[in-house]
Amino acid sequence: MLLQIEKLTKSFGGLTAVNQVDANIEKGKITAVIGPNGAGKSTFFNLISGFHQPTSGHISFQGEDITTLPVEKVARLGIGRTFQTTHLFEQQTIMDNVLIGHRLRTKSGLFDAIFKTKREKREQKQCKEKAEEVLSFVGLLHAAYTSVSSITQEEKKRVAIALALATDPEIVLLDEPAAGVNPDETDGLVQLIRKMVSHGKTVCLIEHKMPMIMSLADHIIVLNHGEKIAEGTPEEIQLNKNVIEAYLGGDAHVSA
Ligand code: ADP
Ligand code: MG
Repeated sequence: MLLQIEKLTKSFGGLTAVNQVDANIEKGKITAVIGPNGAGKSTFFNLISGFHQPTSGHISFQGEDITTLPVEKVARLGIGRTFQTTHLFEQQTIMDNVLIGHRLRTKSGLFDAIFKTKREKREQKQCKEKAEEVLSFVGLLHAAYTSVSSITQEEKKRVAIALALATDPEIVLLDEPAAGVNPDETDGLVQLIRKMVSHGKTVCLIEHKMPMIMSLADHIIVLNHGEKIAEGTPEEIQLNKNVIEAYLGGDAHVSA
């Protein structure tokens, strides 16, 4: 298992956003995390990626305990992520956004930046090459010098994925990669996610678009009120009574 999560719990004051969740994420697979709004999905990603410290429980990545590691260390070990809301510098170009994002994650500190050390220069060149590589991967190299303010929501989602890929993560956590993207444009994102997996990445994604999840996911984890209420293949999840009840609040079908 690439990621092993045991009894993971996060409380915010009186609210338990993630409650005793056990989960295993298998290398090279696509795992989806689904559940109603407020189920704790984003918090679950925030815990894995070190943005929040768990109240209790354990997370291990490639056999290493990462439960209490801060966000930069988790990123450096090979966990990349995107956010539910895509925060990009709208007035900057796509290239600049990737460079700035990558910069924040590389080693040179303020000292190197001010004194233009050799290390700084070498890293600048490496950053540029890396940015070109990831932009090419997500299909945006041709638009590298376009301002983010003039691109589509689907393209912004691709920029966010490029940013996540720039640190060469082993696993990428995508928080609603198709949110706000118009339905005709989600196919391209599905293909991009498949391409990531065919290039050796492990993907874990949160998504509300059911047809997308059902066609993409190898394994689905269902959260409701912070608890894991089911997991299994898409076929198993579609037939699971707890899921149908919790997720759709009645007798509707999950794939509806
Ligand atoms: P989901 O992504 O499944 O919609 P979230 O993980 O964002 O759900 O939120 C789960 C619950 O935790 C919600 O009730 C939300 O209001 C709460 N929550 C999330 N983040 C915080 C925070 N930083 N502080 C306080 N409450 C939070
Ligand atoms: Mg969320």
